Amino acid sequence: MNDDRADAISRRQLVCGVALSAAASAAATLAAPAAAQGTMAATVPRQAARIDPRTKHPRPPFQRQSQPWPGLASEMVPRPDHGETSYRGSGRLAGRKALVTGGDSGMGRAAAIAFAREGADVAINYLPAEESDAREVIDLIRRDGRRGVAIPGDIRTERFCNQLVARAVRELGGLDILVNNAGRQQTHASIADISADQFDWTMKTNIYAPFWITKAALPSLAPGSAIILTASEQAEDPSADLFDYAQTKAANVNFVKSLAKQLGPRGIRVNAVAPGPIWTPLQVSGGATQEKLVQFGGDSALGRPGQPAELASIYVQLAADDGSYASGAVYGARGGGKRS
Ligand code: NAD
Ligand code: MG
Repeated sequence: MNDDRADAISRRQLVCGVALSAAASAAATLAAPAAAQGTMAATVPRQAARIDPRTKHPRPPFQRQSQPWPGLASEMVPRPDHGETSYRGSGRLAGRKALVTGGDSGMGRAAAIAFAREGADVAINYLPAEESDAREVIDLIRRDGRRGVAIPGDIRTERFCNQLVARAVRELGGLDILVNNAGRQQTHASIADISADQFDWTMKTNIYAPFWITKAALPSLAPGSAIILTASEQAEDPSADLFDYAQTKAANVNFVKSLAKQLGPRGIRVNAVAPGPIWTPLQVSGGATQEKLVQFGGDSALGRPGQPAELASIYVQLAADDGSYASGAVYGARGGGKRS
């Protein structure tokens, strides 16, 4: 080893050593008074576990499975992980009041659980057929000591959307986080297979409902409020068999970019989450072919689909005050994208 290299290595070791011991003593200093006071920080580990994202959750192949739309998370194999046992809050949304559409399962459920653990009261909307999934979410919210409000109903009419917002505002005592997350996705091999009724169903759920719900919520949203939409990677990279759905997700992205400009001057932020393939009931109730489902997410760089729990902190980040300069943005979570 020449002197230059040896010198570089020892300098690096020194810098690294100093950094590590500084970090260790900082952690010890942080932990000591917290432990003395018996606060939550006393349980913070000295080193967070490093987990390999490729093997953190199930990988394909998955078993073939199909459910009547809209599907139940409780009947999926394996059951999706919405953070029920893993999400830990730290008061980031204390006292906030949130409405989450599609809050019974999938990304909406993960967001609802995380919001409650961060200290928010949460109202969820879902379809009557999803009552059993919704009950689990409401129980979890209430177990965290937060108010959980269940508001079933079909968001394909302006009338119900108005009622939904009015009830959420009334029962929560206000509103400052709105998550337009409910969505309809059905696979069709050809444009010729999509009836006008099916096309309308997708548009009503994915485009009209966020418009109606946001419009109804606006008078209740004070500066500091946040609106979040669940868009999709389909907005930019549409699949051949999701012709109508992909268009609605492009519309969702456009919605947040325009509305962020309109509502910024009122102190309201508007952002979107754009997931890749996520293991949710939408996929097993007509959203994907059986062939695609068996290999679901296998073509992503991480080699597996995402679990809703892996996106929960993104919804929290976009809702929380410390993300106060994020608006008009689209936050992706797509496992690195398709490998080829
Ligand atoms: P999900 O099935 O768990 O959630 C969708 C929810 O939409 C349902 O639970 C249902 O309550 C609600 N919904 C549908 N139609 C409705 C209607 N007419 N009235 C009231 N509620 C209705 O699946 P998910 O994948 O978590 O979907 C949530 C969002 O994520 C959707 O907007 C979807 O487009 C988007 N998304 C999903 C994926 C994925 O791979 N799963 C990827 C990108 C984006
Ligand atoms: Mg559901």
